[in-house]
Amino acid sequence: MSSFNGFNEETVLDIKHWTDTLFSFRTTRADSFRYENGQFTMIGLEVEGKPLVRAYSMVSPNYDETLEWFSIKVPDGPLTSRLQHIKEGDRILISKKPVGTLIIDNLEPGKTLYLLSTGTGLAPFMSIIRDPNTYERFERVVLVHGCRTVAELAYGELITKELPEHEYIGEDVREKLIYYPTVTREPFVNRGRVTDLIESGKIFSDLGLPELSVENDRVMLCGNPDLITDMRKILEDRGFVEGTSGKPATYVIEKAFVEK
Ligand SMILES: Cc1cc2nc3c(=O)[nH]c(=O)nc-3n(C[C@H](O)[C@H](O)[C@H](O)COP(=O)(O)OP(=O)(O)OC[C@H]3O[C@@H](n4cnc5c(N)ncnc54)[C@H](O)[C@@H]3O)c2cc1C
Repeated sequence: MSSFNGFNEETVLDIKHWTDTLFSFRTTRADSFRYENGQFTMIGLEVEGKPLVRAYSMVSPNYDETLEWFSIKVPDGPLTSRLQHIKEGDRILISKKPVGTLIIDNLEPGKTLYLLSTGTGLAPFMSIIRDPNTYERFERVVLVHGCRTVAELAYGELITKELPEHEYIGEDVREKLIYYPTVTREPFVNRGRVTDLIESGKIFSDLGLPELSVENDRVMLCGNPDLITDMRKILEDRGFVEGTSGKPATYVIEKAFVEK
């Protein structure tokens, strides 16, 4: 319950700071808050007696008892300049209405599912890669995460060490999930922008997979405005069509944030 219409008031359970620009936190979850993996909702704080909220994707899969969030820290951002200082026990407003098109049901069947993200655009894919339905629908799932630095590759340990041992989805993860982190500003096994790696074909030769094709592949995109614009063109040039709710097609998009 909360004093604001349309919002539940939840409690912060724990917080993890990855870098000086990124953090994650967990909150309690109302039983009535149900969502599809990949969706987002509005969350935030009460400021001067009013809700100050922004769109956030759910990181936690929809079968978890708690909710997890992955956040940027924008120094002069109205919400995140405050949100980055939250402590265990603080109250968070969470809209009762999850929304969004980045869901498996908006894609036609295919063989390989590509989840392409930059920065906090990883958030919705953290729930999608923990959904058993994802592995029922696709033979292979390739999760790409592009960041500037290695420290920004949040959740890498969880993906490579914990998920393969997970009680519900460990076997699917071991057999079907491929994780491809890449950075642009320092040395690392994989380097370069996500779009460049796809256009040059480097990612496919690295993974031993065929080039992107609308016959075999389905794509979900969540990242910065450049990733969205450039990937949309690459996909549409190859015959991919954007899916929406009620009209599944061959790729779907969610913006990781909006440039103001
Ligand atoms: C559909 C959708 C889902 C989103 N999911 C998430 C999420 O899971 N995690 C998250 O941290 N943010 C997410 N965002 C962005 C989020 O809604 C806010 O913009 C962010 O929390 C900053 O809020 P603010 O009030 O501090 O600054 P704002 O005034 O909202 O933003 C100020 C500026 O900061 C930059 N910025 C904002 N968000 C980001 C970001 N995530 N990464 C890099 N630069 C950014 C942009 O240049 C923006 O113009 C999402 C946005 C949309 C539209």
